[in-house]
Amino acid sequence: MAEKLLVRALKGGKSTRIVTLNGKKMTKMPITLEKLPGLKTLNLQNNLIPKVCSEISTLTQLTVLNLGNNLLEEVPEEMKYLISLKKLHLFGNRIHRFASGAFDGLQNLILLNLNNNQLTWIPEEISRLKSLTHLSINHNQLASIPKELCFLEHLSELQLNYNQLICIPEEIKFLKMLQKLLLVRNNIEVLPEGLCDLINLRILDIAGNIIQIFPPGFQHLKLREFYCEGNPLFLKQPVTAVKQEDIWSLQEITSRFIMNQLTEKNPFLMQAIEWYPQVRNIISKGRKCAICGKSFLSVWLECVEFVSPSKNWKISKNLQLVPLQILICSYKCFHQRGPNLFGIAQV
Ligand SMILES: [Zn+2]
Repeated sequence: MAEKLLVRALKGGKSTRIVTLNGKKMTKMPITLEKLPGLKTLNLQNNLIPKVCSEISTLTQLTVLNLGNNLLEEVPEEMKYLISLKKLHLFGNRIHRFASGAFDGLQNLILLNLNNNQLTWIPEEISRLKSLTHLSINHNQLASIPKELCFLEHLSELQLNYNQLICIPEEIKFLKMLQKLLLVRNNIEVLPEGLCDLINLRILDIAGNIIQIFPPGFQHLKLREFYCEGNPLFLKQPVTAVKQEDIWSLQEITSRFIMNQLTEKNPFLMQAIEWYPQVRNIISKGRKCAICGKSFLSVWLECVEFVSPSKNWKISKNLQLVPLQILICSYKCFHQRGPNLFGIAQV
């Protein structure tokens, strides 16, 4: 049947550049496709196709492939032959795996739509899609995304709504072209500080997560739209830190000493540190106190500061003040805090 339909679709003869066979109840792809090497667009939406035929590998000039709403279970290896492909629609299938090498030849792909599938993971090889600008994986079962996804330097739109994401990698800061980030209805508790480096980000939607507080610097993002309904955001009310002052470990004491000496450019330590990569590695994780500006390693008081959202942000109604995470090195500094800063009770 598939072949007959194709013949009928090819009224224009072999020079046909577009084939559309949507909603034809086809259970396989027409293999005579291989006789159409000049094909540019192939629409096979809303059929019952469980597998991509190997003949598709001859379509090296294809720029748009739509296999949305079929019965595919994987992103097949044959994709790698579609070296001219720009847009690939695979939404509404049963995809739960990627064949190895599937992304190898897709150097020109700019749009990948994997919405409404059953994906639980994304392979590191996604980083091979060098030209990708739009990636959409809404309504899947992703628990995480690989940091390699953050190496797609042209990505401007990333949609990950309705998954099971717990966190977003710190490497998100490398997505310098990102303008739109949608993370609606996941299980995200903490946003990475790297998010604050996304200078082109204009639309951020984190509605329906479990975020209480935003990373430092968040208020400087140049957003146009920001939505955060359905998160247990901290509201402005005095919260007092009840945690007792910890006894610092030797590592904490030593690290603080070294980091602060290095800030003051102690010549002896600056020279010595060259010889101790492990020490450099440890102190590279140091953070700065928001009050005194000195460094600490792993012991701090977590506070929240409430700042007004930027006037340029179009925001959700529940957000009057943005709760920002502030870390403070000691009780001494905590007692010198401003009136807008509150300690967070440790439970
Ligand atoms: Zn301090």
